[in-house]
Amino acid sequence: MKDRIYSALQKYFGYSKFYPLQEDIIRWVLEQKDLFVLMPTGGGKSLCYQLPALLFDGITVVISPLIALMKDQVDGLTENGISATFINSSVHAREVAARKRDLLEGKIKILYIAPERLAMREFLQFLQELKVSLFAIDESHCISEWGHDFRPEYRQLKMLREKFPKTPFMALTATATPSVQKDIVTQLKLTDYKVFNASFNRKNLFYQIIPKDNPYHQILCVLKERKKESGIIYCQGRKTVESLAGSLQGEGYRALPYHAGLSAEMRTENQERFIREDIEIIVATIAFGMGIDKPNVRYVIHYDLPKSIEGYYQETGRAGRDGLKSDCILLFSYADKIKIEYFIHQKEDENEKQAAYQQLKALVSYCEGNVCRRKILLDYFGEKFTTHNCENCDTCLNPKEQFDGTVAAQKLLSCVYRVGESFGMHHVIDVLLGSQNQKILQNSHTALTTFGIGKEYSKSQWLTFSRELIQLGYLAQEGDRYPVLKLTSQSREVLQGKKKVLLVKPEETASLAVSGEDK
Ligand code: ADP
Ligand code: ZN
Repeated sequence: MKDRIYSALQKYFGYSKFYPLQEDIIRWVLEQKDLFVLMPTGGGKSLCYQLPALLFDGITVVISPLIALMKDQVDGLTENGISATFINSSVHAREVAARKRDLLEGKIKILYIAPERLAMREFLQFLQELKVSLFAIDESHCISEWGHDFRPEYRQLKMLREKFPKTPFMALTATATPSVQKDIVTQLKLTDYKVFNASFNRKNLFYQIIPKDNPYHQILCVLKERKKESGIIYCQGRKTVESLAGSLQGEGYRALPYHAGLSAEMRTENQERFIREDIEIIVATIAFGMGIDKPNVRYVIHYDLPKSIEGYYQETGRAGRDGLKSDCILLFSYADKIKIEYFIHQKEDENEKQAAYQQLKALVSYCEGNVCRRKILLDYFGEKFTTHNCENCDTCLNPKEQFDGTVAAQKLLSCVYRVGESFGMHHVIDVLLGSQNQKILQNSHTALTTFGIGKEYSKSQWLTFSRELIQLGYLAQEGDRYPVLKLTSQSREVLQGKKKVLLVKPEETASLAVSGEDK
């Protein structure tokens, strides 16, 4: 078998080696069993079903939401001598009929379809007339409402499973958290399956968060050192995209916009000019990038806050595909966070809303943290990262000055305990600060031993400490809309004085302490 796999790799794809996990995955698929492939963008997912497709008797059906890319994929395969075709809404009925004939006659090995097709009964019947050896579900996180890219059409896949109980299913994604992963497995009813999880660690990417204050000026500073390099700047809205692209052109940069409001021709043209290196910078909304394979993107800048870690990871993942050092820079502000919350608030579906809040919360805590960025990202995707210093993120390279925050931590934790672990961050801090507000009076919290014991720090300093203690695992926040602070299994050691806690040194501690004594 080894020889067959390697000779196909060489003959049809022109490669002599597999990327990590590809070979294991292909062996498993060839045994005709279900599987789940988690691989970062650029990890080489396509080969995992394209190569086995050549070795199977029957047809491999690939389900993908990316209609715009199907033609390219199929053209690429055809050039390599692999018979492939696609059927989607862009194909004329007469042509669809011709393609179906080819499929029935066994002339095709790989068929790409959009999930919408599966809603058509006659199409399902047609599929049943074929000998299908494998269903590959690309971007399979789209089936989950808990993912960042839920697409209702993906629900049709459940039906597919019912109609083809014996055909193996291969779910693929670059962005599944453990909960989304579980959801995919349940919904696709994967049985006797194996999970193949390639590392999400992109060692060559440098992660940096910059507090956003004067974003245009900040962007110029970043670009000044990267004049001839290719880069992507992501913005939240079309207007920002247009105006930023325009201003950068004014500074002499070769920059073009990309967003869903431009005509299809314009988008294709701008994208191609970027790939051909006619221009260096593409300023875009998240509409840009799916399936784009440009190896030498040297930086990805987030001008505005992204909505989720999944999205951020995928967008930054477009940098440095060639393995060379590349930068991922995010401009972070709480104002952006509030803007996104406003949009989430408008959502009608309660599940969707909760999922969106959770995703934003995780992203914000990624930005706030004083912990290795890489560690947080990998933790998020359920991957353990135990290296103490990754040496390639801002927090590891420029650690902020710390102080012994044990006493502050003890005060905060014991206050959380005193209020019965059933109040939010602001209330707990108000108690520490000795505030006499309505809520404190109503709950008789003035009587607590922790009332007013934290006046040496300001509210914003306490907020920073609380977030950091959450990051460090000494505190937890539970609940979505009105989260309450809870102690964790690690809190006890701090409260008992058995553990020293290092926190980021606040800036104006000294002056505040003095003004506190003056009163
Ligand atoms: P993904 O879908 O996981 O983002 P792709 O399947 O598009 O990744 O593959 C990313 C790039 O890596 C493509 O250019 C592909 O041709 C290339 N590639 C995949 N497998 C190999 C391999 N074994 N050797 C060399 N290049 C590979
Ligand atoms: Zn790090």
